[in-house]
Amino acid sequence: MGRRGPVVGRFAPSPTGPLHAGSLVAALASWLDARAAGGRWLVRIEDADRPRCPPGQGEFILAQLAACGLRSDEPPWWQSRRDTAYAQALQQLVDAGQAYPCACTRAEIEAALALRGELPARDGERVYPGTCSAGLGGRPARAWRLRVPAGHVAWHDRRLGSQHQDVASEVGDFVLRRADGLWAYQLAVVVDDAAQGVTDIVRGEDLADNTARQIVLRRALGLPVPRHLHTPLVLAADGHKLSKQNGAAALDLRDPSVPLRTALAALGLQATPRATLPELLAGAVVEWGQRWPLAAARDNPHIQTNRHEEFP
Ligand code: GLU
Repeated sequence: MGRRGPVVGRFAPSPTGPLHAGSLVAALASWLDARAAGGRWLVRIEDADRPRCPPGQGEFILAQLAACGLRSDEPPWWQSRRDTAYAQALQQLVDAGQAYPCACTRAEIEAALALRGELPARDGERVYPGTCSAGLGGRPARAWRLRVPAGHVAWHDRRLGSQHQDVASEVGDFVLRRADGLWAYQLAVVVDDAAQGVTDIVRGEDLADNTARQIVLRRALGLPVPRHLHTPLVLAADGHKLSKQNGAAALDLRDPSVPLRTALAALGLQATPRATLPELLAGAVVEWGQRWPLAAARDNPHIQTNRHEEFP
């Protein structure tokens, strides 16, 4: 139970479109959290799903962030260049019997669930019925899945409090490598956060639901579990989550302090009238540090392997 190293935060956008008001909130919050703790802040471009990422979009996001005064402390990582690391992680799981190949198509999964009389829809996704967990039965492998252990996964969110999920029964054995050969978000994010030494994940609340899966995967790979804070979502005028998918407008960065003020307000932080961009950021770092202090917990062994709760 020794002293931990300094805080490392990150912003990990998928470059499927430009940064919008919602993603700026997540970027800003993760930056403020790292800065308030005197730590480092990294940007990782999550372009593992290459067909969904138009050329130049990652660079554009980096330029948008820079215009807002948010610059990665290290050269950004690109997931499209990390195939070897993901392949090694999958191999480690396969060797340990914790991952298995799956031959099922979506239609076959639906049919297997219907046969059982089950209708569990989870954000449109079905709980995998485990068809291939005992073998492919001579069918060709399509995807690779994690063998999820039974039981509840409990974790703590600095804003949302105590969270838990029974991943085995609510999600099932989830995909690590997709049938199209692309790496699944869950595998790539876990491998990269660990490889970059990320101690603190600060991201939008829409991703909170992935955390239990990521903790299960971290445990399977023997990786430490970081702290988490999920930020409030920015809603569109129609009350839906603002996202690239529902056509959220790219940020108007003619005066970056304007979208930055909106993002600060979404995080419940003050913005002094007439303050410049650097002044706004500096003030917000202080306020964030008071609102969401990490410093007091810094000497605690909050990064732990194979523990159910990071903050008991
Ligand atoms: N790349 C993911 C997204 O843009 C976020 C990953 C994360 O922060 O864990 O939705």
